[in-house]
Amino acid sequence: MKTYSHERLAALARDRGMSEEYLRDLRVVSSVLPFKVNEYVADQLIDWSAAPDDPVFRLTFPHRDMLPPDVFENIAALHDSGAPRDVLRKAAADAQELLNPHPGDQLEANVPTLDGRRLDGLQHKYDETLLVFPSQGQTCHAYCGYCFRWAQFVGVAELRQALRSPEDLTGYLANHREVTDVLFTGGDPMIMKTAVLKRWIEPLLDPAMESVRTLRFGTKALSYWPARFTSDADAGDLLRLLERCVAAGRHVAVMAHFSHPRELETPVVRDAITRVRSTGAVIRAQAPLIAHVNDRADAWSRMWQQLVELGVVPYYMFVERDTGARSYFGVPLAEALDIYNNAIRGVSGLARSARGPVMSASPGKVLLDSVTTVAGERVFSLRLLQARDARLVGRQFFARYDPKAEWFDDLRPALGSWFPGQPDPEASQPPQAGDR
Ligand SMILES: *Cc1c(COP(=O)(O)O)cnc(C)c1O
Ligand code: SF4
Repeated sequence: MKTYSHERLAALARDRGMSEEYLRDLRVVSSVLPFKVNEYVADQLIDWSAAPDDPVFRLTFPHRDMLPPDVFENIAALHDSGAPRDVLRKAAADAQELLNPHPGDQLEANVPTLDGRRLDGLQHKYDETLLVFPSQGQTCHAYCGYCFRWAQFVGVAELRQALRSPEDLTGYLANHREVTDVLFTGGDPMIMKTAVLKRWIEPLLDPAMESVRTLRFGTKALSYWPARFTSDADAGDLLRLLERCVAAGRHVAVMAHFSHPRELETPVVRDAITRVRSTGAVIRAQAPLIAHVNDRADAWSRMWQQLVELGVVPYYMFVERDTGARSYFGVPLAEALDIYNNAIRGVSGLARSARGPVMSASPGKVLLDSVTTVAGERVFSLRLLQARDARLVGRQFFARYDPKAEWFDDLRPALGSWFPGQPDPEASQPPQAGDR
């Protein structure tokens, strides 16, 4: 797999006809934020005749508006004047700090321990689901410009959270029988060679690990490198590994990241989807809603319809997190809800398994259900789909309507409503079935 970043990325863009002015923007922005594409993204997904407005180009290539204007100008001036490397590096590091590299408190708040030792690389936020970040899976076949893990790709050291040893995973699971779902994530776990992946997965198929019912893989490989499932040297071994998981009675869920219907249109991705499905695994699709790439209802309804036809289950439409190039990719919540509703109206019930807009915020997964007027006040009606405290799952709450709000932290309680983070008024009562 040929990949392009930094100067090679600039050379690729020049080869494909991008202007000198754009190449300057590319060099400035890619000295702060991480970018990487591969030959498949460049040759089969991007429509160069439509660049820079092509959605996959927008998804994977730098744009000057990804940096605040003053930061862009400052770094551009350093580039233009041929500033020494260490000066540039310092300016880039300062700019990275301004872009909120540590969104929320995810990294610190949910790290479990085993025998008193911190297991960096596991995240256990919801009782039933454990997130695993295997150390060999902490990169991707290409990068999304909006990735909330961007800081780890530029090597901000304290953010590298990764689990080295499969024994730590099985050790933790043996003490935590409430975990039914193990979710391998990254980066992209499908970047790992099959032989490496096997060392993580095989122990979970052991009869001693019967409490683990579902193996999930969060991946964008179907989109960025579908050959992983078709013609890579170890593609067949990977498919056989998934088959063995299914044969061992586990549900295998490939949580595929698809941002735009374009990603579903090449013969190789269709072949890859067919092969993965033939193992008995179920593919579910999710992606954030982002400006310049998929902020139109018809992009989502076309994508969901095609997914259903390909046997893939639409799952989540996420809201872009408050980090990195959010000022460029962010979409206000009210607009996101309109896009979701218009997209859902355009598809049949089979594609309405897609839930959104959903924010993966510190109290849990927050769904924006509707904008409504109650007692003369315009409000957002929201619901917790996932919560650290399982008794709060399904709980509805209200926030003041704010057409500019883009994230959970921008919301304020309305109508005297309970709000996540506040004491639970129903805590003294036993959990009720209706709360689910
Ligand atoms: C989304 C998420 C999960 C999985 O939630 P589901 O609703 O079961 O898909 C697990 N852990 C974390 C931290 C998450 O953000
Ligand atoms: S595939 Fe996922 S982890 Fe990788 S760059 Fe894109 S959003 Fe980030």
